[in-house]
Amino acid sequence: MSRKHETRNTKHETHPFCLAKALANDTGGPSDFYRMMGAPTVEPKELQLALPPPESFSFPYATPYGIQSDLMHHVYKAIEGKSVAIVQSPTGTGKSLSLLCSTLTWLADDLRRTTTASLEAYREELALKTKSTDPPWVAERMFERKKMELEAARQETDERLQQVRRQEEERKQTLRAQGRDRKRMRPTIFEHADRDNTDEEDRFLPHDPSANRLQTNAEGLNLSPDVLALMAQINPSAPPPAVLPTQTKIFFTSRTHSQLSQILSELRKTSFAETTRAVALGSRKTLCVNDEVRKSGETGIDERCLDLQSAGKGKGCKYLPGRDEGGMEGTKGREFTDKVLATIQDIEDLVVLGKETHICPYYGTRAAIPEADIVTLPYNLILQRSAREALSISLKDQVLLIDEAHNLIDTILSIHSQSLSLPGLIQARDQLRTYLIKFKNRLKGRNAVMLKQVLLILAGLITVCESIEQAKDSSKLMKVGELVQGMGKGLDQVNLYEIVGYFKESKIAVKVSSYTEKLIEEELAKATTTTSQTRATTRHAAISYMHQLESFLLSLSNADADGRVLLSSTSSPSSSGKQLVTLKYVLLNPMDHFSDIVADARSIVLAGGTMEPVNDFKLQLFPQVEPSRLANFSCGHVIPKENLKTIILTKSPKGKDLEFKFETQNDTNLLDELGAVLSNVCNLVPDGVVVFLPSYRFLEKLKTTWEKSGLLAKLGMKKSLFYEPQAGGSVETVLEEYSTAINLGSSATNKKSGALLLAVVGAKLSEGINFSDKLARAVVMVGLPFPNLTSCELKERMKYVTDVAIANKQPQGDKAGRELYMVSHPHFKELPDLTYLTPNITHIS
Ligand code: SF4
Repeated sequence: MSRKHETRNTKHETHPFCLAKALANDTGGPSDFYRMMGAPTVEPKELQLALPPPESFSFPYATPYGIQSDLMHHVYKAIEGKSVAIVQSPTGTGKSLSLLCSTLTWLADDLRRTTTASLEAYREELALKTKSTDPPWVAERMFERKKMELEAARQETDERLQQVRRQEEERKQTLRAQGRDRKRMRPTIFEHADRDNTDEEDRFLPHDPSANRLQTNAEGLNLSPDVLALMAQINPSAPPPAVLPTQTKIFFTSRTHSQLSQILSELRKTSFAETTRAVALGSRKTLCVNDEVRKSGETGIDERCLDLQSAGKGKGCKYLPGRDEGGMEGTKGREFTDKVLATIQDIEDLVVLGKETHICPYYGTRAAIPEADIVTLPYNLILQRSAREALSISLKDQVLLIDEAHNLIDTILSIHSQSLSLPGLIQARDQLRTYLIKFKNRLKGRNAVMLKQVLLILAGLITVCESIEQAKDSSKLMKVGELVQGMGKGLDQVNLYEIVGYFKESKIAVKVSSYTEKLIEEELAKATTTTSQTRATTRHAAISYMHQLESFLLSLSNADADGRVLLSSTSSPSSSGKQLVTLKYVLLNPMDHFSDIVADARSIVLAGGTMEPVNDFKLQLFPQVEPSRLANFSCGHVIPKENLKTIILTKSPKGKDLEFKFETQNDTNLLDELGAVLSNVCNLVPDGVVVFLPSYRFLEKLKTTWEKSGLLAKLGMKKSLFYEPQAGGSVETVLEEYSTAINLGSSATNKKSGALLLAVVGAKLSEGINFSDKLARAVVMVGLPFPNLTSCELKERMKYVTDVAIANKQPQGDKAGRELYMVSHPHFKELPDLTYLTPNITHIS
């Protein structure tokens, strides 16, 4: 290990993120630097110097494993080389820690390079500005003075954050002494609350499109007037938000907030913890602390928040500092962002902080982005352009790391696919008609014309759905052009792009939904017997139809070859015996929705337990990237082979075939036999046992069957039983209780030895959770759920992938679709891990 590098990275006082060192010819944080100096006007030559990967990396444990060092080396090199890296490292190999240490080491080295080079550029600029007759010490003095000013600014920021850390530590100690640790105060489940019934009907009118076009401000940021107005309101005197020049950050994304919380807790273990400015971003749904707004329901929270911002004086959200307080740039706002940046906080911590300080964490964390070194966020917030715009995120020259990226293509496809049901279309049509009747005298000419065209589209879509309604369990796949043809006459005159633009500009989906909501509330207010849960469900369902229509129409504006429309008629899940007709836009080509990210980002790292087939990513996401810029890294496992035993069990103790096909999932004998197998496993295996089941439905069926047969009670005597919850908010509680039960161990009064957790494949516990050591001494996988091979959607996707592979002359391209099917289940993808252990796989029948 290189002592030089280790010293540089492992001591806080000499940490590369400390600007003091930058100005003492070492390193520094760019935020203060650029705030003081602005971007250099002379191209710093040193910026073009390449950084070689260090011989060793700062790592929280004494010596990283060889594969961890290799991974860090590879990621560092890829970022420096502005490459796209596809990294495979099996679960349990310390992947997240290695990714953090390598990216943050690179970031620190890059800051050092940028700072030094920029100071040199400033020196050159001074030399050009000073006259030839001036003695050289003039420029030198000016340079020194600037350095001192910078030093003072840097010290002020560092000391401020240091003070916040000290205060936070003192506060925690006091709470601990009082036996009150910081409570988790995640906002509770959305529930209905009656809202003020006002006669402010203006709020239901469409936004004026002519006054509401996207503006491009001086900084080239495309922000809607709503966002600009909102920002002006939050801080009227502040300039539009500028992303600081060349302030490179790491955008660390994963699938869920709990995965990101784990990343942040890994970050706390590293030497970067005290000096790295980290910001966890989330949507309003996760960060809003205004209970009144939260009560208005999950789907309406964004609009309700924006409504509040645009309300008159004194009516804004009480969690935003007012104009007289200087908005988010004022003392209160600044104190909040300091608290965000001073210590590493996950989403739950931020909600607590927001409630304690009475500042909105959603806007507060956004305000902290410019000064952050690392920003964590779920990847659906980065994969959609609209979400990035809403958070004012620019990926230009930034490092994007996508963890748990094995499902990336599926996620992009599903985010940009949209379904509509026939009953939903009828509702949307009726809501729009009611709206038009109510506001007919107040709608401007263009609004009336556009809304009539929307009605025409709705009528056409209903006609298409009705054409298949009578057919039983059938489906039909078509191109967008065929759908439009089927919608009947007059539709060929409608410009779909114009309609999509109108939806966006006028916010008509929101307006119609809000008006419908008001009518529903009036109706519900009369019905005294309705429960708040029923009210929330009724409102929620009713206000989503116009939004679904908007998303569907937006999907249709993709290139014709990139997607298909699936029209299907299936038996209704309710017992009405009716057929449920749905229209679904299925995106086939993920590339277009990812290409602007590829074009903007300096480097992209896709990381996962296994990323096979890697070629899929190359072909479908990065066809325009030069092969020399694509770096692939794959490593084995850190577990010694003798520490792992893999068993394939095909027969139960009584000799029954353990075959978990869809048809056999109701076979109570089979389910009881499975219980007997698990009972034996629990007898043999200490501590935690995790069982993955094919679906929630199957889990419920097991519980009911075992309750009747007494197996559940029998299992409960051996181990404490836990089940994966369907509600996302309960996952952490279940995991905590599961872990406590295991750590409790058996005693004279507690005969149980550990815990049994029944989880669901592909749900919340099946990835990104570190079931280390005692938490999973055995993992049982019940069946391997595969998608239905007869599904039109899957067949079309397989065909598309095959066509792309053949067009790109891939070896065995004709088998690409089949390969997609074989790896289409996330847990099948883990099987290459098992092949590494082939000699240890035992087949028992
Ligand atoms: S400003 Fe923040 S706290 Fe207030 S409603 Fe909006 S998201 Fe919620």
